[in-house]
Amino acid sequence: MMATMWSPSESGLRGASARVLLVEDETELAEMLAELFTEEGYVVDVAHDGHTGLHYGLTRGYDVAVLDRGLPAVDGLDLLARLRRSGIVIPVLILSALGNPADRVAGLDAGAEDYLAKPFDVDELLARLRALRRRHLDTARLLPVGDAHLDLDSSEVVTATGRIRLSARERDLLATLAGRPRQVFGRDDLLALAFPEAENPVVVDTYVHYLRRKLGRGVIETVRGRGYRLGRPAT
Ligand code: CA
Repeated sequence: MMATMWSPSESGLRGASARVLLVEDETELAEMLAELFTEEGYVVDVAHDGHTGLHYGLTRGYDVAVLDRGLPAVDGLDLLARLRRSGIVIPVLILSALGNPADRVAGLDAGAEDYLAKPFDVDELLARLRALRRRHLDTARLLPVGDAHLDLDSSEVVTATGRIRLSARERDLLATLAGRPRQVFGRDDLLALAFPEAENPVVVDTYVHYLRRKLGRGVIETVRGRGYRLGRPAT
């Protein structure tokens, strides 16, 4: 029998920990911040130049990013603008020695959510990161799916290592299941809730199949004789 538990942690994810991208070229400061973030429970990736930071930001999933402005290869504002143009919506805090009002305006206009001038107070930095994450979770319409999240606006499943795009129908079905994670839904219920324009409940099975193919078999659990429910991640 195939396992029905869905465990993204098998692929090296640690969903309980928020992931932070830190792009800072001053090695000592980067080390100090990485240590601080780790102590706070974040999983930290450090990039020492803008090119590496951009690569990480585009290819790995983060919950929040802290960017220096003056960086080798690609400067912080350019890096941020490129992330935004690529549809990366993670909240970004800019940490910069440039702290006058015009500098802050430039940072916010480039797409940053927050801006902190150096030298800074570490407790303030940590508090601002917590606030950014809270606001982001409040506004992003994210539904937990195991250790990952379904982003209802972008129709993507966001894991710690990337994003998996869903079709509109796949999203609607997964959102229905994830909206009440403990409930077992009959096929007719799912047809009415997720596919109101369809008539044949076979469409439910078809999209369960598509979701399992994209996200792993255990993402949806079959409850024999009753229907389907969201898979329960192994803990
Ligand atoms: Ca710098």
